[in-house]
Amino acid sequence: MITVDLRSDTVTKPTPGMLEAMWSAKVGDDVFGEDESINELEAKAATMFGMEAGMFCPSGTMTNQIAIKCFTQPLDELIADQTAHVYRYEGGGIAFNSGVSTRLLNGYRGIITAEMIEPEINAENIHYPHTSLVVLENTVNKGGGSCYTLDQIAPIAHLCKANNLKLHLDGARIFNALAHTGDKSVDYGKYFNGVSVCLSKGLGAPVGSVLLADTATIKYARRIRKVLGGGMRQAGFLAAAAIYALDHHVERLKIDHAHAQILADELTKLDWVTGVLPAETNIVLFDTVQPADQVLAKLLEKGIKASGTDKHRIRFVTHLDVHPEQVEYTVQVLKSL
Ligand SMILES: *Cc1c(COP(=O)(O)O)cnc(C)c1O
Repeated sequence: MITVDLRSDTVTKPTPGMLEAMWSAKVGDDVFGEDESINELEAKAATMFGMEAGMFCPSGTMTNQIAIKCFTQPLDELIADQTAHVYRYEGGGIAFNSGVSTRLLNGYRGIITAEMIEPEINAENIHYPHTSLVVLENTVNKGGGSCYTLDQIAPIAHLCKANNLKLHLDGARIFNALAHTGDKSVDYGKYFNGVSVCLSKGLGAPVGSVLLADTATIKYARRIRKVLGGGMRQAGFLAAAAIYALDHHVERLKIDHAHAQILADELTKLDWVTGVLPAETNIVLFDTVQPADQVLAKLLEKGIKASGTDKHRIRFVTHLDVHPEQVEYTVQVLKSL
């Protein structure tokens, strides 16, 4: 039986080329700043996004949480959409790590606008938490891989500047967004104070994320990473995988998007599916007549793994290890249910 893992784009395994890059990586003690591969990765990613500096971390949760710590003080408030990963899926870390409250907005598929943000910025008043940060996510995970264009981001960045707010991007899937919108990564540096990029999602590296910002922010971020226990030693083996991914796995994201589109198109034709969100990138969210658990169990019997995100909602995520024949097989199984 063919098996297909559509649960997440985190499940990929390193390719032979990536393993070779890891095997031959030049490494050193990164806490001393001596790991050549990590230094190369940080500089490369910063340049790609028009930022001054970068810092490699074990996870995207860590890069996001460190960014929030860098851009706020205790008793501050940040603004984000109610679906935001930093709020929903990072264990309450905003309050725990930074002592900051969160103001949630009701965006469309996780996408928020300057008009929505502006009235939520607190005036200077002893009763109110001090608004100091806006966090955007691109693509939006819980929005089904929905994207911001830079044209949508520019007015938000402008509003933040005018109100002395920092702007951070949770760019776990930023390369998926760029593949869809055609925007250039280098232009992101003009708008954001911080950018977090996951290397272990669609890019297919086994571990890690980078935080990108200006030099002073990254200097402070290194203190925070150390205190959180994220100072790694010869982690250049992981950075080498990430460099390989940036060189070889960015262009191919379009294939994952095409695969998601094929699955979404098929789903819209099925009578047991009540709705499918537009598949902009590599995530397909769809609603089912039967409870999601029952549909997931039937898929699993056929070797197809997926995840439920709500009682009647299922998520498919395409990635590097989902090949055309597996997409075709999935289509056949969906038709047969
Ligand atoms: C996966 C993800 C992260 C980071 O998650 P880790 O598992 O900690 O690497 C952050 N934001 C979004 C939107 C994500 O999908």
